[in-house]
Amino acid sequence: MYDLIIIGGGPAAVAGGVYAGRKRLKTLVVADLFGGQSVVSADIQNWVGTPSISGLELAQSLEKHLRAQSGVEINDGEPVIAVEKKDDGTFFVKTKTKSYETKMILVASGSGRRKLNVPGESEFEGKGVFYCSICDAPLFGEKTVSVIGGGNSALEAVLDLMPYASSIYLIHHGSELKGDLITQEKIKKSEKVHIIYNAETTSIEGSGSVSGITYTDKTTNKNISLPVDGIFVEIGAVPNSGFVEHLVERNQYGAIIVDARTMKTSCSGIWAAGDITDIPYRQNNISVGDAVKAVLNIYEVFHSGEKH
Ligand SMILES: Cc1cc2nc3c(=O)[nH]c(=O)nc-3n(C[C@H](O)[C@H](O)[C@H](O)COP(=O)(O)OP(=O)(O)OC[C@H]3O[C@@H](n4cnc5c(N)ncnc54)[C@H](O)[C@@H]3O)c2cc1C
Repeated sequence: MYDLIIIGGGPAAVAGGVYAGRKRLKTLVVADLFGGQSVVSADIQNWVGTPSISGLELAQSLEKHLRAQSGVEINDGEPVIAVEKKDDGTFFVKTKTKSYETKMILVASGSGRRKLNVPGESEFEGKGVFYCSICDAPLFGEKTVSVIGGGNSALEAVLDLMPYASSIYLIHHGSELKGDLITQEKIKKSEKVHIIYNAETTSIEGSGSVSGITYTDKTTNKNISLPVDGIFVEIGAVPNSGFVEHLVERNQYGAIIVDARTMKTSCSGIWAAGDITDIPYRQNNISVGDAVKAVLNIYEVFHSGEKH
């Protein structure tokens, strides 16, 4: 029986694992893969304390730190597929090949970006196709880019790109933007920004890196190609929370609802941290901080005799 099982292999899970090990909680980390979503980033410039690091180097250093932490066991290479709560309040955590028992759980399984699923998208991921404007906008100084989407994350991507790019095409499949009006006003004031409505992206072109994007104008049914150097896909994220959906309260997007002070979920004995939660602003540093907060609360609850 473990005190704590941490589910995930990104910044949140690793931070949780390091702190849990240091608190001498009997801990297992079950990670599908190590590194988290920014593993594909060419250059991360906001990992505090490190001016520049590639996503791959960050992933390696996270894994190294966790493996160096005594008292933490690791099962990597297979995802958790089920979590069951027993009558005594403890849990089974199951992968395809193993079943573990634990008193408490920290869910840090993050999220995946919703993809366009059009030709060229996976081929050019990291080579002109990006999913994080805060991270990668500075790569596009004086370049032409397009942002796909019409909600807040797309509008914020346009704002992130405005100080850098020379021209920004916002390609939206609907007839009206959905994001905040204040942000809409800001971007509409910029001469750099061209909003294209009723446009369904159909393919991404390039050779080695992105050189263009094609969409169908849904009002005329014509295919239109634009030359662009970069594409930011901002059509939402998909939280990896399916394996606890029967236990914890989630919002309409599948993100786990947490108490921001403690990172407790609605299910006693389960905490969550990082991109899997309904906390706004999805960043490596925030995921780490929230996981640390969760483990400190887990430790407090564990030793207080309070019901998990
Ligand atoms: C392309 C890109 C670039 C980014 N660049 C930056 C940046 O420069 N700076 C920044 O601060 N933020 C950046 N972000 C955001 C940042 O990556 C996330 O905020 C951060 O990774 C969230 O960490 P997390 O640990 O909560 O989740 P994730 O990073 O999503 O990690 C989740 C982990 O859980 C594992 N997992 C998933 N399901 C299961 C399961 N069922 N069982 C076991 N393990 C599972 C995954 O394999 C993964 O290791 C970027 C995001 C993207 C997509």
